[in-house]
Amino acid sequence: MEQLPVCLNIKGRKVVVTGGGTVAARKVEMALRAGANVLVVADSLGEEFHDLSHRPGFTFREGGLSASDLTGAVLVFAATQRHEDESAARRLTAEHGVLLNVPDRLELCDFSMPSILDRSPLLIAISSAGTSPLLGRLIKQRLEATIPSAFGDLARFLGAIRERMQKRIPDNRARRRFLETVVDGTVSDLVLAGDEPRALEQLEREADAFVAGGEARLGEVYLVGAGPGDPDLLTFRALRLMQRADVVVYDRLVGSPVLELVRRDAERIYVGKKRSHHEMQQEDISRLLVTLARQGKRVLRLKGGDPFIFGRGGEEIEMLAGEGIPFQIVPGITAASGCSSFAGIPLTHRDHAQACVFVTGHTKTGRVSLDWSALIQPGQTVVIYMGLSVLPTLMREMIEHGADPALPVAIVENGTRPGQKVVTGTLATIAEKAEAEGIKGPALTIVGTVVSLRDKLAWYAPTEPAGAVATAAFRHGEGRGPAAAG
Ligand code: SAH
Repeated sequence: MEQLPVCLNIKGRKVVVTGGGTVAARKVEMALRAGANVLVVADSLGEEFHDLSHRPGFTFREGGLSASDLTGAVLVFAATQRHEDESAARRLTAEHGVLLNVPDRLELCDFSMPSILDRSPLLIAISSAGTSPLLGRLIKQRLEATIPSAFGDLARFLGAIRERMQKRIPDNRARRRFLETVVDGTVSDLVLAGDEPRALEQLEREADAFVAGGEARLGEVYLVGAGPGDPDLLTFRALRLMQRADVVVYDRLVGSPVLELVRRDAERIYVGKKRSHHEMQQEDISRLLVTLARQGKRVLRLKGGDPFIFGRGGEEIEMLAGEGIPFQIVPGITAASGCSSFAGIPLTHRDHAQACVFVTGHTKTGRVSLDWSALIQPGQTVVIYMGLSVLPTLMREMIEHGADPALPVAIVENGTRPGQKVVTGTLATIAEKAEAEGIKGPALTIVGTVVSLRDKLAWYAPTEPAGAVATAAFRHGEGRGPAAAG
């Protein structure tokens, strides 16, 4: 082991920081957060100190570090980033036996600062003993995704219920088993959502069931939006619930890169719906969810995009609510947001569109009946979901109701996925173009003058035919410039 990890209690203790720039400000912020009295010694203070200097415990002295600054100090950060200051700090701290940290100068350090994930009172520190802070930050990012920001509340909650649980389930092993299901279930989700009263109620219910029947876990349903396809567009919460599910019920729109992130040993049930040959009726899907949850399972209902946008999420939870099955809903990035971003078409723009409407070309009866005059309003973008099979009708109706036949239209097929394809045209030409390009779907149609901005903005987003390559570069934050368009 290169270094000894310790968590110092520096409340009310003196910490000295030299330097008035960004690096120094970061150390000062950390020390103040941990309750220290911080003396900053610098020629002057930069803008970053504007708020910090008003915080309790902050003192500033103009000048360079001197021996008297070290009286009573427990730690020193030498952050002027000037070598001569750093060497002087090294000498002085060694003489006075105070521990020193010099950012980016490992050889001068008594201690290094780990990357931290602050979920107070829970704290996760990742240290590479100063050898690669970058790696530490990378691990931190991964942990960020799996450990919810409100995890500290959960730690506090568990502390608060500890005594009560010791009384209710006196056997240590049984209690531990029970608490494991609590940490990984509805109670913890309620705490994380900030609803402690309901979390306590739920805890009591689960404890009753546990005491009565041993294991009995109540089943529940997670109605989760999986976004338009790129797994990077999942939310943290979606990912967490995907990792927790016992069984996943999924649609045709959910692609395999997303499915791969579901817990490996979760059972998989496909209920894909395809226009005109429904594999499974909506009613049957809802009933299936109820049945699985009644078996005590954690059921993940994974849906493309957002469950409440043309996703029948409302219909599915209606039955769950009626049957008293607990459920939670996780929003997802809807196809309109995903496709427009990845195609370089802003849905609103002050010079083009002050409104944006989402409509569907697919109805229960199969007939397209939209309020055409409302759709063709100027200054409005229209996004059409499930419109491909009726595209000629849609475009013709808009023109017949008075829209300019030259109004720009884009079709985005497989938006945000490696095979993304964008076809642009006008109300008059797009149907033919889409046919000629062999667009099969899933595809989203965007109507409005914002489509013309694509020519200017597309370099920032993936373009075809180099779509897949540009998507990857875009995702990793590289090549964000005209060169990336390929
Ligand atoms: N709940 C989903 C929409 C379901 S309706 C959401 O919020 O996105 C299905 C329609 O969504 C498809 O017919 C298509 O029009 C659109 N769609 C979904 N994913 C898409 C994608 N990756 N690329 C293009 N269109 C998509």
